[in-house]
Amino acid sequence: MLLFNRDTGLNIKLEGEETHHLERVAPRTLLIAVTNVCNLQCPFCYRNLKSASDWTYDSLLRFCQHASNWSVLEVAFGGGEPMLFPNWEQFIHELYDTSQLAINFTTNGMKLTPSFLSSIEGKYGNIRLSLYDTNRYKQTIELLVDHNARFGVNWLITPDELDSIEAKFFKLLSFGVRDFLLLSYKGSDPSMHFQKHHYEAFSDFLQHVHNNLQNTIQLKLDVCWGNLLPDVPRLFETSDCGAGDGFLSITSDRRIKPCSFHHWTIPFETIADVRDYWNSRRKNRQAAAIGGCARLPERALISTGRINDEVIHLAGIQQQ
Ligand code: SF4
Repeated sequence: MLLFNRDTGLNIKLEGEETHHLERVAPRTLLIAVTNVCNLQCPFCYRNLKSASDWTYDSLLRFCQHASNWSVLEVAFGGGEPMLFPNWEQFIHELYDTSQLAINFTTNGMKLTPSFLSSIEGKYGNIRLSLYDTNRYKQTIELLVDHNARFGVNWLITPDELDSIEAKFFKLLSFGVRDFLLLSYKGSDPSMHFQKHHYEAFSDFLQHVHNNLQNTIQLKLDVCWGNLLPDVPRLFETSDCGAGDGFLSITSDRRIKPCSFHHWTIPFETIADVRDYWNSRRKNRQAAAIGGCARLPERALISTGRINDEVIHLAGIQQQ
């Protein structure tokens, strides 16, 4: 049994004989691309530029309210840039007031303003700020810290980034960042993927930070690292990433995917369609046909990874 308080973020998991008969009734989180529009043009962006932005204020609100009734606990909005969704501030208020959902969103930060942050105070779970060379993130972090905002940074760790990871980490710490989500690269550029020595160096860095700063920061690894960093202490051990089961990805053109990087998509009309999909497919542990998926055979997660050679070939996946 999982108890969750959306205002504090507190999770309590009760496991024992008394709860053995209970089953998960819905994905914990829906990752929803609210729009495909963005105000930046990052070369490494993985969104499909051909996807339409089909959500309207009303259709998205209704969909999320129904998701809440279904027992989904959190929504994590992304895009594109969610701050460009029409009436975004009002949307957050209305969704908070009419559902039980914890509302999170990922942003490049360029559109965040002091008045927006004051307005949504107490109505959201977490703002995730993406770190890019092009989005003057230092300024945005100052703004977030000034407003006592609940936020963390999403930081893509590539071999190049790894070279200066410690210096950048301490710089971010000095700016006031206390929540770090370290993302692995998913894609077809071999130079962006880690080799064995990169994993070792990254692992050393994580242990060093964990040992020295344990309870003062939140250090998070995205699920696609799988168990490739075996020496790193984890809060929870897991043998799967949870894509398609613990969370589902919903695209801006109203399609369902197990995760944002997955090659499977299926269109839907209503939340009932999403629920049917989830019920029928959640036991499938299919890898995403993209380099970096921890479910790929011979990669990280042990008990999963059914994907055929043809898909791997078509996707040009670099296996390591
Ligand atoms: S299916 Fe693969 S790419 Fe998707 S979240 Fe899981 S590990 Fe990551």
